[in-house]
Amino acid sequence: MAQDDLFKNVISHAKEYGFIFQSSEIYDGLSAVYDYGQNGALLKNNIKEYWWKSMVQLHENIVGIDSAIFAHPTTWKASGHVDAFNDPLIDNKDSKKRYRADVLVEDHVEKIRQKADKEVAKAAKRFGESFDADMYRTTNPRVMGYLQKADDIIKRFVTALEAEDLVEVKKVIEDEGIACPISGSKNWTDVRQFNLMFSTKMGSVAEESNDLYLRPETAQGIFLNYLNVQKTGRMKIPFGIAQIGKAFRNEIVARQFIFRMREFEQMEMQFFVRPGTEMEWYENWKTARMKWHSNLGIDASKYRFHDHDKLAHYANAAADIEFEFPFGFKELEGIHSRTDFDLKQHEKFSGKKLQYFDPELNKNYVPYVVETSIGLDRMFLAVFSSALQNEVLEDGSERTVLKLPYALAPVKAAILPLVKKDGLPEVAREILSQLKFEFNVQYDEKDAIGKRYRRHDAIGTPICITVDHESLEDKSVTIRHRDSMLQERVPIETLNQILGNHVKMDSLLKTLD
Ligand code: ATP
Repeated sequence: MAQDDLFKNVISHAKEYGFIFQSSEIYDGLSAVYDYGQNGALLKNNIKEYWWKSMVQLHENIVGIDSAIFAHPTTWKASGHVDAFNDPLIDNKDSKKRYRADVLVEDHVEKIRQKADKEVAKAAKRFGESFDADMYRTTNPRVMGYLQKADDIIKRFVTALEAEDLVEVKKVIEDEGIACPISGSKNWTDVRQFNLMFSTKMGSVAEESNDLYLRPETAQGIFLNYLNVQKTGRMKIPFGIAQIGKAFRNEIVARQFIFRMREFEQMEMQFFVRPGTEMEWYENWKTARMKWHSNLGIDASKYRFHDHDKLAHYANAAADIEFEFPFGFKELEGIHSRTDFDLKQHEKFSGKKLQYFDPELNKNYVPYVVETSIGLDRMFLAVFSSALQNEVLEDGSERTVLKLPYALAPVKAAILPLVKKDGLPEVAREILSQLKFEFNVQYDEKDAIGKRYRRHDAIGTPICITVDHESLEDKSVTIRHRDSMLQERVPIETLNQILGNHVKMDSLLKTLD
């Protein structure tokens, strides 16, 4: 299936099966804002649980907090968000469309890199098995030319951005002949900086009210509380503080469904370390986070690391974990070595000491911070889009199945009486009562059994439990596994254990440890 069709499929499936709805749909929607439906909310909660438990429950030295969305406005002065949380934007005068200059350039460079990939693929076909792709990339003049060109453009662009030279930023776009994807024209406005924070006011009387911001990241709530947590939790360095919460950004280019939203959720963990040890922890967390992803069983080739070309003002090392979304490889998670920048800034702006006394060194210092920051909604999209599959069965028929990791599935089992009479619904409801305290299970008696199986395949239910006439006598049921579609007969009294083995979060967490 073509990339565009695949993505359209993901969006329509998410809507049709109650995962994600456009916000305020009856008013024609609100751009880049989405609501999670009955199945989406469950899947999202399960992802949160997997992340939270992997951080807080499995680490003795990581605790979790829940800080407010509002913070004292000086927070955002200190963090640099008021002055530097900007995107360079540019408008096309013909289509009137607005773009992020960096996204335009990155997309252009990606196309050049794809040309190199195509050359390599062609050569691979020509040379057959003995072909060495890495060697070809470093020796073939045409491929090297493309790769060099891509690097040169990025280098020039990053230098311009770092120098905040917006005239040069525009010149890169012009010199590269980058055209608007909609109008096809190269008729661009100047590049301007645009602050991404949403502002609002606190207080009832306009003159007395204070300007506030909706937080653009959850991390600052952790920095503001770092000493409270360290002291009350008697935390010793190295230790981490984790948080899941909403963040808000007035994104310029808000498209690609829940990939880039104006209201979204982040799962962040700041790890406080002794200065000088941050690179070691940075590498550790890169490995640990990739393991968290691969533990889900999603195809490893869908993940890759990408080191940042341009470091943020606070970082001394940064990498993204990129995921192959239906529209290509894009950032899913960031791992940043943030130095002592944030805490030092808060010391400066608040006039309060934010130091840690290290008993082993017998000395005070401001800790360094390594953070892992992942968008919950992007993780949802990664899991959901890679799980959605169309399968052609042996008899030639097709089924749509959402092959979610079992522990993340919204509904763990469906309980299906074969018919709506003869005492079968009663037995099915008894099974529901037996399972519901431990698992999120659903009773479903409507439509033919095949149709009910398909309905549950489409929302990713790992196990269907069918109650038939024989169940009345042998106290057994047929269970059908989502992925293999294999069926087996099992005693009703063993259902809790069987489900427990397959779908519980513990099993997923155990393979992490
Ligand atoms: P991008 O370059 O895609 O704008 P970013 O580098 O600004 O992302 P960070 O500030 O590092 O993102 O935020 C950490 C994580 O939060 C990202 O890896 C991403 O998963 C998520 N995230 C950031 N912005 C959004 C958004 N607008 N919608 C959904 N998730 C987001």
